[in-house]
Amino acid sequence: MKKVLVIGGGASGLMAAIAAAEHGAKVTLLERNRQVGKKILVTGNGRCNLTNMNQDSACYRGGEPGFASTVFRQFGLSETLRFFEKAGVYTRNRNGYLYPYSDQASSVADALRMEAEHLGVRLALGNRVLRLKVSGNNVSGPRFTACTEGWNYEGDACVLAAGSAAFPSAGSDGSSYTLAKSLGHHIIKPLPALTSLQCREGFYGRLAGLRMEASVRILVNGAELASDRGEVQFTKTGISGIPVFQVSRYAVRALDEGKKVEARLNLLPVFGEEKVTEETKEADTALEEFFRKRIRESGWKSGEAFFSGLFAGKMAQCLLERSGIPKGKKAEEWSEKELFRLLSCIREFRTDILAGGNMEQAQVCSGGVDTSEICPETMESLLVPGLYLAGEALDIDGACGGYNLQWAWSSGYTAGLHAAENTQSFIGKGENL
Ligand SMILES: Cc1cc2nc3c(=O)[nH]c(=O)nc-3n(C[C@H](O)[C@H](O)[C@H](O)COP(=O)(O)OP(=O)(O)OC[C@H]3O[C@@H](n4cnc5c(N)ncnc54)[C@H](O)[C@@H]3O)c2cc1C
Repeated sequence: MKKVLVIGGGASGLMAAIAAAEHGAKVTLLERNRQVGKKILVTGNGRCNLTNMNQDSACYRGGEPGFASTVFRQFGLSETLRFFEKAGVYTRNRNGYLYPYSDQASSVADALRMEAEHLGVRLALGNRVLRLKVSGNNVSGPRFTACTEGWNYEGDACVLAAGSAAFPSAGSDGSSYTLAKSLGHHIIKPLPALTSLQCREGFYGRLAGLRMEASVRILVNGAELASDRGEVQFTKTGISGIPVFQVSRYAVRALDEGKKVEARLNLLPVFGEEKVTEETKEADTALEEFFRKRIRESGWKSGEAFFSGLFAGKMAQCLLERSGIPKGKKAEEWSEKELFRLLSCIREFRTDILAGGNMEQAQVCSGGVDTSEICPETMESLLVPGLYLAGEALDIDGACGGYNLQWAWSSGYTAGLHAAENTQSFIGKGENL
């Protein structure tokens, strides 16, 4: 019976262990925490957005754009749904975002743990792998030794699924990178992704706590790189919320390359996404028409009162200040230039991005083990035969919305299956002889 070691008992490691055990291997899973699936418990605000019905290759980012799609051809959305149904997790569909019907992330972690135990996976908890050695030869095949503080674990194949460097309080401290690097792999610099953004301007302290519908565009050296729309949250130091998370990986990577990064928010995207240019400034836009009508009807109001029912008071104040309109000036007395500056501010609320959030809070990492060194059909290392990699350890990061867990399920299952499968084909050949 082939012995498979799995390093890491998160989403991808549990999936790999289950797949390897289902395919006949004797599996030992080494997890540094005293429990498996600790990070799963915090996903989706404790409800676990385990996948998404709308799968699009653009939702998976990394150095090799097509890599994730090839992996999904082995084990994709429908296989994942079948897997969880069989494991007892009935799903709830919220606009394509899938959650366990119980709305409890713990039920997903429990289902995986129970499946693994049922299949005879040995869960070696409280075991942090410090070193990973490979020995063996062409005849005997590879031999892996995972060294922990108290014991050396041996295996014929090894799945490295120890996560990234994001959210280390759940156990992922960047071990995957150290272990993969020790065996010759290259690491694309890990940076926080799905994170808030810190901005230069001083007014954020006053906007903190505000939430509003907006679209966010990220411009790097003046060129638009990413955009999203949804509920933006203003923090003491900048902007957050799902649309900001979605574009953050592009902003953080560009900042790391020393580029100038700017965000432009449309604070009333319901009126369309027209950009303010010299040509459009005279044009009758829906937003301009709306404001002219509002001024005709209640132009006797000034300052925050004019915006009441449209924006929160603190945003109204900020907009007036940024467009240089005196607080006490009635709207009907605004000059054309003042109105134009105000509309520009609403359509393109510009802010300079200084940094992303830190690794402690980031939901995932961009970067990781270079996927050009991994076979996407099997998840086996092209450098170290018998070594398989899965999950966030790799240079793949998904968009917010269940895509990171889908990547963990798909890459984990593929890695586990192939880690076990070599034995099966070997046994098969032996029987034929
Ligand atoms: C707050 C938060 C919310 C999220 N919400 C969602 C969501 O709703 N939907 C979604 O798709 N994604 C979500 N994600 C992202 C998702 O949780 C991760 O992408 C996914 O869990 C990664 O799985 P993994 O197995 O690759 O890594 P991890 O889950 O990090 O697992 C790695 C495991 O390896 C263990 N380990 C590390 N080093 C060693 C070592 N040296 N020896 C032994 N064990 C080791 C760790 O303790 C850990 O248990 C969220 C993330 C966070 C932080």
